[in-house]
Amino acid sequence: MYLKSLTLRGFKSFASATTLNLEPGITCVVGPNGSGKSNVVDALSWVMGEQGAKSLRGGKMEDVIFAGTSGRPPLGRAEVSLTIDNTDGALPIEYSEVTISRTMFRGGGSEYTINGTACRLLDVQELLSDSGIGREMHVIVGQGQLDAVLRATPEERRGFIEEAAGVLKHRKRKEKALRK
Ligand code: ATP
Ligand code: MG
Repeated sequence: MYLKSLTLRGFKSFASATTLNLEPGITCVVGPNGSGKSNVVDALSWVMGEQGAKSLRGGKMEDVIFAGTSGRPPLGRAEVSLTIDNTDGALPIEYSEVTISRTMFRGGGSEYTINGTACRLLDVQELLSDSGIGREMHVIVGQGQLDAVLRATPEERRGFIEEAAGVLKHRKRKEKALRK
């Protein structure tokens, strides 16, 4: 299984439909500052069901819709489609190619489709959850996060490890209890 293509339409800075065709293996996206590299990564999280505006580097969910430039008016909807090669059957669905799409209208919620059929967010999450690219499984290391790890104090670094090990929430609870 691998990501075959990603199409953005009205998503963030990608006003016109833009398709990235991907190959198995490592893909690098290069370009000048502000050209939309991180927006491509945001589109990947978004189409897989990301619900947090902050993890998409916006204030509110609608910020993913093309907001317009001096030469181009804002758009009313954002759409992202992700096509996954499933010839190895890693996704529990009887198709060798699976396309997940998410559309959002200004002022409205999101609509999802799997291979053109309308579905719920839950269906997308369930489809991906056992494949290693589900909402909780894929790993996106954001810009500046590596820096934060390298510059962290020993205490902060311990925090990262505790969070990864699932200990942090218990420690926070304990601290809260002791404060009472
Ligand atoms: P860097 O190399 O600095 O990390 P980048 O290639 O990752 O840059 P992005 O952060 O992906 O760049 O793109 C930033 C650009 O996207 C900004 O110019 C910003 O104005 C534009 N942008 C973000 N959201 C929208 C939106 N909703 N509508 C229009 N443009 C947007
Ligand atoms: Mg970036």
